[in-house]
Amino acid sequence: MNHAPHIEKNSLIRLLGVTKMYEQPDKYDILVLDDITLDIYPGEFVALLGPSGSGKSTLLRIITGLSRPSFGTVLYRGRPVTGPNPKAAMVFQSFALYPWLTILQNVELGLVAKGENLKERRDKSLKLLDLIGLNGYEDAFPKELSGGMRQRVGFARALAVDPELLCMDEPFSALDFLTAENLRSELLDLWLESKIPTKAILMVTHGIEEAVFMADRIVILSKNPARIIADLPVPLPYPRNRKSLEFIDLVDYVYKVVTGRDDDKRSDKESDNPSAQAVLTDRATLQPIPYGHLSMLSGLLELVADRGGQDDLYHLGSELFLEVDDLLPVTETAELFHLADVKEGDLTLTDLGRQFVEADVNERKRIIREQLRDVPLFRLIDRVLRSKANHAMPKEFFNDILEEHFSVDEAERQLMTAINWGRFADLFHYDTDTELLYLAQDQQEQDNNGTVPLQEK
Ligand code: ADP
Ligand code: MG
Repeated sequence: MNHAPHIEKNSLIRLLGVTKMYEQPDKYDILVLDDITLDIYPGEFVALLGPSGSGKSTLLRIITGLSRPSFGTVLYRGRPVTGPNPKAAMVFQSFALYPWLTILQNVELGLVAKGENLKERRDKSLKLLDLIGLNGYEDAFPKELSGGMRQRVGFARALAVDPELLCMDEPFSALDFLTAENLRSELLDLWLESKIPTKAILMVTHGIEEAVFMADRIVILSKNPARIIADLPVPLPYPRNRKSLEFIDLVDYVYKVVTGRDDDKRSDKESDNPSAQAVLTDRATLQPIPYGHLSMLSGLLELVADRGGQDDLYHLGSELFLEVDDLLPVTETAELFHLADVKEGDLTLTDLGRQFVEADVNERKRIIREQLRDVPLFRLIDRVLRSKANHAMPKEFFNDILEEHFSVDEAERQLMTAINWGRFADLFHYDTDTELLYLAQDQQEQDNNGTVPLQEK
């Protein structure tokens, strides 16, 4: 198996200016996908790579016709997609099997909708179960199977309908390493040797190595909102060797592309899309903070200091066993606090960053406190707590404000991160039982070592 199937010239899927906004209970809409234009051709295995929460699943749902874009067009073989596309099938991260049906019944289910008769369904399903390594398990129930076996059922069910387009939403990320690796190789084998009639595969992932290992093209999305920031061919022959120089170089390069830009900052300035711009100015009043854990931040900065103050993000990630998705919030936090600069995949400590690494815990708290003075969310919290006679406010109050700017999930994550940081920096206390944020006596008087309390500039 040396090369991917032949690539045809008429696109299977064509997205033109696909934009998706989610309406919020109040007047603020959330822009998730911004002007996505993309063609996928028969013969291609495309990986769609982006940080979590960027809108990958949303895009996949739009492509398979399960959801409609707010603006823009989706064409399948040149025809507009107006409902669930019978030529597309989906494999989910969570397997999504029916627990009360046997393995065979789960696989047959897709064929019922296609109107095939009982015998056809049974023969076809049994053949697929065999192909995918599940013979002997026909009458078992999902709960009797390991995660890896359940995902095999997920694949068999998707393949049962002979999909032209096989969509997979992080299909390997709920599996342990070895199981995932086996399934990846087996799927590649089915695809490359044309044992399945599938014309194109679209795999959503947040794993860079996984994308480079499997796909022959990688489309990279930014976050807040999702835009296509790169579209790269993967010219490596199959089977790919993760240890080869070419493989490592390409992973390193994709890492640089993914980490090389800060779309939160950028989107506030850019105005090439007027409809998006209106939404963004509303949102810009409270910029999202990255979900960096402060203990991880300290660990990362110390590691980089040991390396002389600079290191490659890809190396750091693999050393700390962090996927780029988990590493990015930490490096973004380091940048937000002016402790490090990230450029072209390298992280370099600033003078303040060096000072931080050498400092004791109290001094570290002071440095973070000083940096938080410039973060709008903390100015808001501080202003509210100071203006109250009892210097206390329920978490719910801030949640409500945040939900005017972010989705419900995002608002919760923003607030939990803010509470974590604020407690570490001794800016305020939080009582988990009463869910109250409050200022203790010393915090009410606190002036950050001679500077005035947090205030609007
Ligand atoms: P990904 O798959 O890349 O992790 P998703 O497509 O699941 O991202 O979500 C992208 C963003 O859209 C997230 O901020 C999420 O909270 C938001 N979102 C997803 N579905 C809905 C919905 N039904 N209503 C409101 N917001 C949503
Ligand atoms: Mg998703």
